[in-house]
Amino acid sequence: MSQHLFAIFGNPVSHSKSPLMHNLAFKALKFNGCYTRHLLTDGTTLKKTFLALNLKGINITVPHKEEAYKACDELDYFAKQVGVVNTIIKKDNKLYGYNTDAPGFLKAISEFKNIKNILFLGAGGTAQSTANLLKEEGYNITLLNRSQARLDKFKEAGFKTYTFETFTPLTYDLIINMTSAGLEDEELPAPKSILEQVIPSSQACIDVIYGKNTPFLQLAKAYKKPTKDGSDMLLYQGIFAFEYFTDAQYSFEEIKTQMKKAFIL
Ligand code: NDP
Repeated sequence: MSQHLFAIFGNPVSHSKSPLMHNLAFKALKFNGCYTRHLLTDGTTLKKTFLALNLKGINITVPHKEEAYKACDELDYFAKQVGVVNTIIKKDNKLYGYNTDAPGFLKAISEFKNIKNILFLGAGGTAQSTANLLKEEGYNITLLNRSQARLDKFKEAGFKTYTFETFTPLTYDLIINMTSAGLEDEELPAPKSILEQVIPSSQACIDVIYGKNTPFLQLAKAYKKPTKDGSDMLLYQGIFAFEYFTDAQYSFEEIKTQMKKAFIL
């Protein structure tokens, strides 16, 4: 049987862990697949490129997830909910689009129990693609952002929104850093004085940045809070994509055992 080919499309794409995650799992689970990366500069050529490379499936990363959504013939529930696609499969010459970031995020959060009130630090793309979904799952979401502009659409959608200047802290069970503060610098996502008002009464803290003990996580740990970085979200979106790539032949735990190795190499 011929080998199934997969790729990740993005720009930049050289840093992506997806090829390693998927190839480790293909090899260990004896699936005849190979996963590579493709630098896609013009998102409007996504469908043409996908078909020309004779791929069975792709993942899509920044900045092409909206173009990926537009390129699909069929969309799953999560893709429709968040308006972006990060996984596409070709079946019978039709493109099926999925969003596995969203269920990956939900699964990572659901591992903390008894969470109801969540404080998002940040109001960018990641907050945008998860806020409604979490609301539908029954969580109360409050957003705190350094500036007003990005908060407007959340406010219109009925979320409680604050800037650092207008913030009046309540008790939040879970605090999530969704900003890029701490990614390439050593900044906190909000003034320390604000974080020290909310972290002590929280149950847990998450940073969506992965593979780094960010200043936010360091502060949460100083208050002895359970923490998680963004690795589980990245891992879980990959596992859900792998299930689509391989027609659900393997269990979640089986895939997880293999893919996790990409994070310790
Ligand atoms: P966006 O560029 O869409 O939004 C950035 C947000 O961060 C804005 O709210 C911005 O505030 C805020 N911000 C940036 N710098 C600072 C700072 N120094 N202090 C306070 N706030 C700041 O980013 P994304 O939503 O696309 O990505 C956010 C983070 O999520 C990134 O670090 C990214 O790496 C990570 N990520 C992780 C994933 C995973 O799988 N683990 C998946 C996707 C993203 P303002 O509006 O005031 O500019």
